[in-house]
Amino acid sequence: MLLTISTTYQPATELGYLLHKNPARLQTFDLNFGQAHVFYPEATEQRCTAALLLDVDAVQLVRGKGNASSLDQYVNDRPYVASSFLSVALADVFGTALNGRCKQRPELVTTSLPLQAQIAVVPCLGGEAWLRRLFEPLGYTVEVVQHLLDELHPEWGLSPYFTVTLSAECRLSELLTHLYVLIPVLDNSKHYWIGDDEVNKLLMRGQGWLEKHPERRRIAYNYLRHKQSLTRDALERLVPEEEQNDDEASEIEAVDEQASEESKTTEAQFPPAAPVEAAQKQKKEKSVRLHEQRLLAALEVVRQRGAKRVLDLGCGEGRLLKKLLQEKSFEHILGLDVSYRALELAQKRLHLERMPSRQRERITLVHGALTYRDQRLEGYDAAFVIEVIEHMDQPRLRAFERVLFEFAHPQTVVITTPNAEYNVKYETLDAGKFRHQDHRFEWTRAQFQDWSQQLAERFGYQVQLSPIGPEDAEVGAPSQMGIFSRHESLDRSEVV
Ligand code: SAH
Repeated sequence: MLLTISTTYQPATELGYLLHKNPARLQTFDLNFGQAHVFYPEATEQRCTAALLLDVDAVQLVRGKGNASSLDQYVNDRPYVASSFLSVALADVFGTALNGRCKQRPELVTTSLPLQAQIAVVPCLGGEAWLRRLFEPLGYTVEVVQHLLDELHPEWGLSPYFTVTLSAECRLSELLTHLYVLIPVLDNSKHYWIGDDEVNKLLMRGQGWLEKHPERRRIAYNYLRHKQSLTRDALERLVPEEEQNDDEASEIEAVDEQASEESKTTEAQFPPAAPVEAAQKQKKEKSVRLHEQRLLAALEVVRQRGAKRVLDLGCGEGRLLKKLLQEKSFEHILGLDVSYRALELAQKRLHLERMPSRQRERITLVHGALTYRDQRLEGYDAAFVIEVIEHMDQPRLRAFERVLFEFAHPQTVVITTPNAEYNVKYETLDAGKFRHQDHRFEWTRAQFQDWSQQLAERFGYQVQLSPIGPEDAEVGAPSQMGIFSRHESLDRSEVV
């Protein structure tokens, strides 16, 4: 199995420093499944190629396991194809480069270089299309050659084996990381090193790109060898961290901001030539006011109901929590989010560590997913779910509905979500696109109303809908709010 990495960066031999392997020498490394050899088929100032030749010992793989009962344990494609063994070898042999370190040429680590990687043979049952869907979103030009099953018998047709060449201007550590994660994703065969720790490895190596990859779900699923529970864990930790916190808010703000500008066309026709910074500041303030409007509308409803114990579900970085703490009438506040990073930011925003103990006792932050029953959510008067549902896959909403309305069962629930009809007002948003890349859906007013009404009926609540933000005569307001009130007279067992 051969992987080559080439560059035309000048002088190209700098690749030797980046990989920590001298172009003049052949080096061999012992691995527990065979050997890896590193050598340079070419090393000139103009072009330099490093080759990683993996010699997988198929016999050694089964030796000592006491279960080598079938021939295919000895005779298989493992020695000849790029598989998870290649990832292990990359981490072992090029670990420093993979981690983006180079003492001798530190500036090259952060430089985008013209790079090309060629994987001599990789199995891919998904074919060329799948190869492209994996690598093209990462900016690679992908060349693919599919091999015949047997060159002497072309009538037998094509094999699932490909030679793949990837070219891009990127950092070497990025290229190595993408190969490290995506080669095992292509290969459907059994992995020998899969374990719970793989979730952490995937999240660590995927940082900064996997969360944005359009195929991230499939990548996680394949990487984790189709283990549903691990995949779920990975996606729950991966997806939410990708966005919000600041990004989420600023996305919401950015689109709201544009809409609010548009709704004031006459005023805005001849704006005075304000300095750019001042204009940006003004915009920011306006957009913050719009997000505030959403939070304040929800808060007001719950305050008026006289709620004392409140939940902020999908609390993000704690914008609402901060307001809730300022209201003395809320005796206990619980913020929950699936993103650990969001909770850390919330903790910072609220200065939890410096908070006087009486105040500190009023608030609890918990890490959890709204799609799992959670006893910590029981016994509260009201729940806020602000711009959260659209981040969940629609089939999983069913679980969320039961978690909140059946098990947590607060008297009041306030849910807000974008109004998809309003998207036409956002000039920068292409038709059919969502406002945020992590949104799994965006509903029209009618869709939200249908969902809310069915939900209310099923769980014994009454619902009232209300627009949030500047209302347009045709498409309504940017955001919509459902206020659910529990029927007190009904016995829970009658309605669930
Ligand atoms: N309510 C906040 C944040 C909205 S962003 C505000 O209005 O400012 C959406 C938040 O929902 C993110 O913080 C995300 O991590 C969280 N989230 C998404 N899916 C979730 C789930 N299944 N369980 C818990 N939180 C979730």
